[in-house]
Amino acid sequence: MNLHEYQGKEILAGFGVRVQRGIVANNAQEAVDAAKQMTAETGTSWYVIKAQIHAGGRGKGGGVKLAKNLKEVETIAEQIIGMNLITPQTPPHGKKVHKVLIAEDVYYPGESETSEFYMSVLLNRAKGRNMIMYSTEGGMDIEAVAEKTPHLIFTEEIDPTVGLLPFQARRVAFNLGLDGNAFKEMIKFVTSLYKAYVNADASLFEINPVLKTSDDKILAVDAKVVLDDNALYRHRDYVDMRDLLEENPIEVEAKAVGLNYVDLDGNVGCMVNGAGLAMATMDLIKQAGGEPANFLDVGGTADAKRVEAAFRLILKDPNVKAILVNIFGGIVRCDRVAQGIVDAYKNMGDAIKIPIIVRLQGTNADIAKELIDNSGLAVHSAIQFQEAADKVQAVLA
Ligand code: GDP
Ligand code: MN
Repeated sequence: MNLHEYQGKEILAGFGVRVQRGIVANNAQEAVDAAKQMTAETGTSWYVIKAQIHAGGRGKGGGVKLAKNLKEVETIAEQIIGMNLITPQTPPHGKKVHKVLIAEDVYYPGESETSEFYMSVLLNRAKGRNMIMYSTEGGMDIEAVAEKTPHLIFTEEIDPTVGLLPFQARRVAFNLGLDGNAFKEMIKFVTSLYKAYVNADASLFEINPVLKTSDDKILAVDAKVVLDDNALYRHRDYVDMRDLLEENPIEVEAKAVGLNYVDLDGNVGCMVNGAGLAMATMDLIKQAGGEPANFLDVGGTADAKRVEAAFRLILKDPNVKAILVNIFGGIVRCDRVAQGIVDAYKNMGDAIKIPIIVRLQGTNADIAKELIDNSGLAVHSAIQFQEAADKVQAVLA
């Protein structure tokens, strides 16, 4: 589950990580009130207005702006809320902004220079360990840093039995070239950041930039947080942080009916039992000259109700030109699935206006094919994988 910056910062602050403070606002009036409160709490008179969307690169797209008084807070908030923000990380048509974060300005001038660093905590799957990745090159696109100046990216691997050790936290501060109070602050920052990552059951915490202020404080200016869905049952308070406006509406609906659906860009919808067969089916569709419109694993019990729910989901995607149903009857009998398809089709009346190709293989596959062929419905049946592919190709042509 992805979080907004303001939610990520809330979690971080709860674990003692210093963050750039901010208050979220839904409209220009709330933004002005938030700015006043920010001044009362921090003494700041400049504010940063930050669009809250599930994508980075907001600064480049015009979604992060500095306001030097309350009037500017109002105008900028008015301009950003409701805008369609396009950044290198959004879909090409952008994302609509519903909320802004009114944050204190932390780039104020002072005794020393400000510096921006990069830091993330994530799982190194190959090593089976968490790692902290960090760089002196903060505030920029980390992929570009990795490509052009890989020697400026450091990693610290963490042994799960002992956790992050003090010498490792010191090494991070040292490699970032810090000394004095900033050095001590960085040790605290890394230690509490790692604690937050582990205790929140996160799969990614990316802080870009981590800022050293001109008075040598270390704080998180940005926060990209991804939580592990499988651990959400342990964090009831995080479940409420899900923002359905940010998620694909078909995927949200699929989740609600217990179907494993991932939206894709193609034109052939597919309904398959088993994730492996679903992947193979997507390959097959490509080979037949189509592009998969989705990944959909209906699971072991492909009864009429589930099949109907799956059809309805697939048909919500206006790009779908044909549907390929590919079911292997191992535990489930093919004739029951076929009956499910026929029942679902009949139930849905005129809703299905595109060709459906059904490939059933396994227990009672022959009976299933007969059932479909005799149903009088516009469904093409197949038993062999290749046969199904040929039929997909034929209906697309
Ligand atoms: P992103 O573009 O989506 O990664 O959003 P960030 O939260 O990283 O903000 C983008 C940029 O805005 C940062 O790299 C900073 O340069 C700038 N920025 C963020 N906070 C402040 C602030 O308090 N004051 C000023 N002057 N600039 C800021
Ligand atoms: Mn950032």
